[in-house]
Amino acid sequence: MAYHHRPGDEGEVQVRHVQPYQAVKTYRCPGCDHEIRPGEGHEVVVPVAAPDLRRHWHSGCWSRAVRRRGDRRS
Ligand SMILES: [Zn+2]
Repeated sequence: MAYHHRPGDEGEVQVRHVQPYQAVKTYRCPGCDHEIRPGEGHEVVVPVAAPDLRRHWHSGCWSRAVRRRGDRRS
């Protein structure tokens, strides 16, 4: 399942939820600079204009970032 929204500077992004069983590698979350461990559900954020620049975020960190950007815009 995927959806689109426009959080701000990186333009339109596509966000995919990664289920715990799909998380098989360790990633670093750009929101908190901590590791996302294998087996941990998280979000993959893919800029539509630059799919190579996708980042893996903790679900909580991403929703906080979206809220921050929303506040700034309103
Ligand atoms: Zn995080």
